[in-house]
Amino acid sequence: MRKVSIFGATGSIGQNTIDLIRRAPGSYQVVALTGASNIKQLAADAIALKAQIAITADEARLSDLQAALSGTGVEAAAGAKAVEEAAHRPADWIMSAIVGAAGLAPGMAALQQGTTLALANKESLVCAGKLLLETGRAHNAVILPVDSEHSAVFQALVGEPMEAVERIIITASGGAFRDWPIADLAEATLDQASSHPNWDMGQRITIDSASMFNKAMEVIETREFFGVDPAMIEVLIHPQSMIHALVGFNDGALMAHVGPADMRHAIGYALHHPARRHLPVERLDLATIGTFEFRAPDDVRWPALRIAREVMARGGLAGAVFNAAKETALDGFIAGHLKFTQMSDVVAQTLEVMDSHGGHIDATMTLDNVLETDHLARKAANAAIKKRAG
Ligand code: NDP
Ligand code: MG
Repeated sequence: MRKVSIFGATGSIGQNTIDLIRRAPGSYQVVALTGASNIKQLAADAIALKAQIAITADEARLSDLQAALSGTGVEAAAGAKAVEEAAHRPADWIMSAIVGAAGLAPGMAALQQGTTLALANKESLVCAGKLLLETGRAHNAVILPVDSEHSAVFQALVGEPMEAVERIIITASGGAFRDWPIADLAEATLDQASSHPNWDMGQRITIDSASMFNKAMEVIETREFFGVDPAMIEVLIHPQSMIHALVGFNDGALMAHVGPADMRHAIGYALHHPARRHLPVERLDLATIGTFEFRAPDDVRWPALRIAREVMARGGLAGAVFNAAKETALDGFIAGHLKFTQMSDVVAQTLEVMDSHGGHIDATMTLDNVLETDHLARKAANAAIKKRAG
């Protein structure tokens, strides 16, 4: 039986992963499941899957978790350190699906045991891609992409020489505001930003899709994961979300990955890699779909894409600053302190402040430096938010 752990088990990616695991009874032994606020779900899944241990990142919820698991034989633990420690428990396959920079330390810990890490937590690649990949290499770990675009690129590259790759095109649906008049974006509400036309995902990534910060993160993720020059990465608006990415080769061929907008495809590919196994996802009927549309993205509507280019040009810890500023600005929008369009202003300003004061962006990339930079960037972003609110 394959031993698996799922970090961020109670979230959208985590639940889709559990769905696949549950469909193959007897194939997997679940080691650790982690969550944060949703104790009911965490405990129910830990019991149903007979996990060794369930951990909530939120220490205040330990007694709730203990009560829910009492008498079941499943261990309970709480706190960020406990989550990280659980990533050291031996497992053959570990899903990294915590949302945000909180996924970095557990991901690093998992790689240190030389496991296969299925990486949905794009924030860790944006914050510390170099560190993560080096850690993986040093411990002979395998990192497999779970983000749908990156899984698509990975699949299009199977058996192909990297030297022949000219460009990587990742698609974007355009999110909730693709067709809105730009002038109306400033007044976009939280509800409007939280509904995605094609994908059913967690709230944060859904809002990031509307602002295109998700795609901005994914451009950086592409650069880190595939080690290509930023100039080779393109974003293409494709409202149907069925072509997830294309790889362009030096003979003019474009290899496209086409599939339904269902994360169980990319999760399942990473779970069964290098094999391909049956997955319970829709089979596309292209004749019925009829049309695929494409258009170029607009930097005025989506300044996040321009900011991502600046972050890649800047290098160093700019990715950690970018991610922290983006997460803080998103918190500000969700809490009603920022307008939708002000999120990109706050991120751009935080990058400027962090670059000009103290040289934090140039520090060497160690886990401590990344976490310290993350902390400072959040402070700077919060100051920028306060200034706008005041
Ligand atoms: P969700 O918000 O649905 O789930 C996040 C998970 O992380 C939950 O288990 C949550 O626990 C847990 N969590 C939240 N805060 C913390 C914390 N501070 N420490 C530890 N755990 C925490 O997110 P998604 O599943 O949508 O996304 C997960 C990751 O996958 C993100 O990095 C996202 O960018 C990426 N991704 C997601 C896609 C999708 O389709 N959803 C597609 C591609 C990438 P709880 O719910 O119990 O509070
Ligand atoms: Mg994606």
